[in-house]
Amino acid sequence: MVREIVKDVFFLQQKSVKATKADIAVAQDLLDTLAAHREGCVGLAANMIGEAKCIIAVNLGDRDVALLNPEIVKHSAKSYKTTEGCLSLTGERETERFETIEVKYRDMNFAKQKAKFSGFTAQIIQHEIDHCQGILI
Ligand SMILES: [Zn+2]
Repeated sequence: MVREIVKDVFFLQQKSVKATKADIAVAQDLLDTLAAHREGCVGLAANMIGEAKCIIAVNLGDRDVALLNPEIVKHSAKSYKTTEGCLSLTGERETERFETIEVKYRDMNFAKQKAKFSGFTAQIIQHEIDHCQGILI
């Protein structure tokens, strides 16, 4: 189900709680909402649809994936400065991102997964994980 995008900065600055198996429906709504914003949006965090749960949805180019309880377990020493926009905020802001990250998370079956991401995908994931921490760019 496509949900409305939250723009309340006070709400978005609250830290999200860990997702459980019962939150897979929230992850599905997040994927539906990401698909509805295909143009101009490459990732979403659950608090952006009003659910303060650690769930993110990311566009991988050819498909979207939902990551529940994503956690960066390793990252490259190298980072770079870039500018990012956000569907919940207006304008673009400068930020710093790691080139590659290794992330552990739960998939849509709530099974444990670990994967490496680099480049733009890694950037999106870092932006969305920040949302789970209540961090806005
Ligand atoms: Zn954002």
